[in-house]
Amino acid sequence: MDAVSEIKQKLDIVDVVSKYVSLKKAGKNYKGVCPFHSENTPSFMVSPELQMFKCFGCGESGDMFSFIQKIEGVEFMSALETLAEKAGVKVEKTVLDPDSQLKKQLFYINDLAVKFYHLLLTQHEMGKPGMEYLKKKRGLTDETIKKFMLGYAPDSSIVITPFLIKRGLNKDDLVAAGVSTKKSAYDYIDKFRGRVLFPLIGIDGRTLGFTGRTIFDRDPKYLNTNETLIFKKSSFLYGLDKAKLAIKKEGAVFVEGQMDVISAHQAGIENVIASSGTSLTTEQLKVLSRYTKDITFCFDSDTAGIAAVFRAVELAENMDFNVRAAVIPEGFKDIDEVIRKGVSVAREMLEKSIPAYDFILLSVIKRYNKTSPEGKKKIMDELVPWFSKINNKVLIDHYSKEIAKELDLSTETVISMLAHPDTYQDQSVPDVQDSVFMSKQSLESYIISLLLKADLDTFKEYAYKLKPEDFKNETLKAIFTAILQHRKVSKDFVPGQFSESLEASQKEVFSDLYMWDHSELLNDQPYFVRELSAMINRVRKAGIAREMVYLTEQIKLAEKEKADKQLAKLTKEFEKLKDERALLEKA
Ligand SMILES: [Zn+2]
Repeated sequence: MDAVSEIKQKLDIVDVVSKYVSLKKAGKNYKGVCPFHSENTPSFMVSPELQMFKCFGCGESGDMFSFIQKIEGVEFMSALETLAEKAGVKVEKTVLDPDSQLKKQLFYINDLAVKFYHLLLTQHEMGKPGMEYLKKKRGLTDETIKKFMLGYAPDSSIVITPFLIKRGLNKDDLVAAGVSTKKSAYDYIDKFRGRVLFPLIGIDGRTLGFTGRTIFDRDPKYLNTNETLIFKKSSFLYGLDKAKLAIKKEGAVFVEGQMDVISAHQAGIENVIASSGTSLTTEQLKVLSRYTKDITFCFDSDTAGIAAVFRAVELAENMDFNVRAAVIPEGFKDIDEVIRKGVSVAREMLEKSIPAYDFILLSVIKRYNKTSPEGKKKIMDELVPWFSKINNKVLIDHYSKEIAKELDLSTETVISMLAHPDTYQDQSVPDVQDSVFMSKQSLESYIISLLLKADLDTFKEYAYKLKPEDFKNETLKAIFTAILQHRKVSKDFVPGQFSESLEASQKEVFSDLYMWDHSELLNDQPYFVRELSAMINRVRKAGIAREMVYLTEQIKLAEKEKADKQLAKLTKEFEKLKDERALLEKA
């Protein structure tokens, strides 16, 4: 048996977590105040059956190893060491970090590469095209170029690779570091060609990789170092090494690209960072939360930019960030352009940033004609999913009035639309896998989580009122179907065993659902049953509505084709659904 399984067998996650979090029993799980985000009501769950933890506030989850990694801020190997000691399991020293030698080498190679490319850019004839681009086109100063250690990779495939090989470095290490590419067994070439290079520098000042921007209009416009042993895209924030002090004082400003970061710093706006080549991730926000809880997004005002703000708002709000957005004035593409107009204009733009929800409201309304009925409908279609997620009553009140005013609707209408997003909307629910936080908001996942807490009799009485087709989300549909099957054949529900029958992608969703805390509901059994029944009715009603729409189409078709037999059959089905719906309405 390997060390990890041996440790898992000897230790219980409940004991491991209890050293840091005071846990209380909640049904079959344990519950406590999350150590990873600030909260008053506990939403941090630990399951002894699944040997997993999950926070329903911030989305953190994992096993005992990831718990130690996160709470101690250490790498996996160090967590392994800690837990091995606790469990009395011996782990060979060499096993502890087999990668440490290679990592050191990769840092070394990247460090050489930064110096090499910077020297080429600033001192060498070959660097001239790069220098011209950065200075003339981008308006950067020598000082800025040095501060960010910008470089230039000439338009040839054999510049840095032969240089580093001559210095005695191993070819495959060059590939592992991300500076070279292996073309064939003997042929190793430069990864970056004809590009100005932005070194990706970690918080500790070490270079992890590069972003290269073409100066010859080639695809891709930006080329990034792939993930390596030392470069993890999902947790990297460009510019944080230089911005961290300013961010502690003034909060962080998120911009879209490296160039925006650099030109902001050059203009003396130093609390600026970018997530390079990815949309914002939870990991990045976690890193950032060590420095601030205030972020302002300043993205391109095109639709992609707005979508990025939307996504960021969803993630950031769940982690207790205070999120604002700076609106780039008409006629400008990004903060870089604004800065070139004048630093004071840029500063003013940042100072006039507005709360994220105002930004969403503003940008959605701008896209449609708010005076026409269709325009109003489209605007509400887009606004409801966002604003229905707000929990704070004061905010709900504020924005309901605001939306009502803008669209000339009654406040009651808006409030009721926001209160019942899923009955109002018929778009498919976003896939739970997209976001751990969705699970809390989607009615379909809520129902499954309730069914998982129900005893066999309650389960039998209610679960079969739903059809798998009532679930719009494919993952949830599959899990629901599997639960029905499982409960048919086995009296006891053993989550660990059941989980084995699921596909990998479903497993994670299942364990989230299983750990969802309903202990308060369960204290009042009649109330629990009422809640379950009401929720099932709602989803079934929505399912019926969809079936009826489908049948109506079929009926129209049958009428047109004069398929009488078919028509009779369809009409009967339709009537049946109508009766079922009437029954549900009475319930
Ligand atoms: Zn949390």
